[in-house]
Amino acid sequence: MLIAGNWKMFKGPAETQDFCGALRDRIGPGAVEVAVCPPAVSVPVAVGALADTDIAVFAQNVHWAEEGAFTGEVSASMLAELGAAGSIVGHSERRQYFGETDETVGRRTVRALESGLRVIACVGESEEQRESRQTELVLRLQVESLRDAVGDHDRLVVAYEPVWAIGTGKTATPEQAQEAHAFIRGIIDVPILYGGSVKPDNAESLLALPDVDGALVGGASLDVDSFVSLCETAGRTTS
Ligand code: PEP
Repeated sequence: MLIAGNWKMFKGPAETQDFCGALRDRIGPGAVEVAVCPPAVSVPVAVGALADTDIAVFAQNVHWAEEGAFTGEVSASMLAELGAAGSIVGHSERRQYFGETDETVGRRTVRALESGLRVIACVGESEEQRESRQTELVLRLQVESLRDAVGDHDRLVVAYEPVWAIGTGKTATPEQAQEAHAFIRGIIDVPILYGGSVKPDNAESLLALPDVDGALVGGASLDVDSFVSLCETAGRTTS
């Protein structure tokens, strides 16, 4: 079970220091793996503040080239040098606002895994795609593209994040989540996180589903009390 907090473009280095200082005192070693995913500029502070804990630090994106003329991008070996354990790849906000495609998601994932990082690769359908009954088609294209790029890699995790549930307060029902996760598992055999408005009060029913192996949490990961509460719920669900 993995609970990963995606901070999006929130928390610079000073806030990161405060948050991680509080988190390290409240999360002990346990059955649940915990990760935070700060903005790239805050990764070194998070790594330092969480040193000697089991809490991992992931970046939010990683480039496919080792180095080169790619202004604004960060390479996998740079993240590894900072002490990051891995990176999110293909978040729907990257796909929606920054032209990320299944092909670039695959390339980023390949390089990150080759560099020894872990990857949380995000997939999920839009509201329009769900309403026009294209959910399985979209998931099949996204997940097959990942599987064809890297296979069932042991450092790969997939996050199923229905786009209509991200930051909207709408959550997939347990039935919708279980159906999508089982479908994805039929294509690729790696852990699958659910993401989309996961909060302390809805986490239990989602995390208890047979094909849900954890959560990728946005908004509720920004507050230390709610993030710790989610991790505790995950711990109870696992035991
Ligand atoms: C996310 O950013 O990956 C996410 C799931 O956000 P939220 O939990 O706020 O919907």
